[in-house]
Amino acid sequence: MTTPIATLYDATLPDLEALLAEWGQPRYRARQIYRQLYVNLVDDPQHMTDLPRALRDRLSSDTALTSIALVQVQQGDQGMTRKALFRLPNDAVVETVLMVYADRATVCVSTQAGCAMGCVFCATGTLGLLRNLSTGDIVAQTMWAARELRGINPDLHLTNLVFMGMGEPFANYNRWWAAVERLHDPQGFDFGARRMTVSTVGLVPGIRRLADEDLPINLAISLHAPNDTLRSELMPVNNRYPLADLLDATREYISKTRRRVSFEYVLLQGRNDTPELAHELGRLLRDEHAEPLLYHVNLIPWNPVPGTPLDRSSRNRVLAFQRALQEHGVPCTVRVERGVEIAAACGQLAGQARQSQPSSINVEFV
Ligand code: SAH
Ligand code: SF4
Repeated sequence: MTTPIATLYDATLPDLEALLAEWGQPRYRARQIYRQLYVNLVDDPQHMTDLPRALRDRLSSDTALTSIALVQVQQGDQGMTRKALFRLPNDAVVETVLMVYADRATVCVSTQAGCAMGCVFCATGTLGLLRNLSTGDIVAQTMWAARELRGINPDLHLTNLVFMGMGEPFANYNRWWAAVERLHDPQGFDFGARRMTVSTVGLVPGIRRLADEDLPINLAISLHAPNDTLRSELMPVNNRYPLADLLDATREYISKTRRRVSFEYVLLQGRNDTPELAHELGRLLRDEHAEPLLYHVNLIPWNPVPGTPLDRSSRNRVLAFQRALQEHGVPCTVRVERGVEIAAACGQLAGQARQSQPSSINVEFV
């Protein structure tokens, strides 16, 4: 009987060792394969040239690297932004975005096909949840980006990994976290935990769980409104986890980890971008707490999603919002945009093959 590993990217090193033991192979072969996958970034067992041919053949015939298939890569920003479209076995699609800058390279990875959270401003939210990605699917997207980057320039390496693509990471916590551990594994890809950031819509149990994990990855929380009425209109999840609960969990997270949290705030003209709301947010984050939170606000210009009745805030309104927050002493920056022309920007990921998406399934919030 063979150890059931779904795909090679789903396997830990001990999983591979168990598989190789069943195949009657020496243990060190597993380590060679693991290094080929995560250090040499090999995407075909036939290219694992330190293995005997028979073993390469067996890997090719009896295992697969991943269950997601690369369909297309689009380029924008003179090739410095690249969006990959992957097809899943159930025909749903997910997207991954690689952004190359002068001094860093960031990959934005999806954790679910579609998303059940239904935020009104988000393209992914319009799809509903189509499928949770497996650990291997999440790892495979990152490996695609690492290889793509090497193709641009062999001296470049991924410096940042953000779980801000399609889906809500904390609604797929176990598989997502196993991917974090795999990518961090010093025997493999060895990606520093402090260079990873997860963004959540505000699932409180996920925030509490993350606070107890032993890898210090960064946390970003999608806030988008300073009061429950407006937040519930924009993000249905607020009915389940209202602001007071969210901020309590955030405070606990900060006091446990001593790590700074970022609050994301997408600016929608006339909906959540008025000076009054900026002051309300300033008071919420600053004045009403005896001990200021260790946090930072990231203002995100909204990327238009066709079919929504929303508008993007003008530059002036973005800057006025920032100034108002700064009056309260709230640390705050405006996010630089990338990939807009290939629909690779935040919240635009929905896949071109939308019509052929299978129908969505309903899930409960965790
Ligand atoms: N589900 C997680 C992570 C994926 S979305 C979350 O919601 O946090 C990553 C970020 O993009 C979130 O802050 C989300 O609110 C924001 N976003 C969604 N749609 C957007 C859009 N059209 N323009 C700009 N940002 C958007
Ligand atoms: Fe899901 Fe995040 Fe989009 Fe909301 S913003 S629908 S949580 S992907």
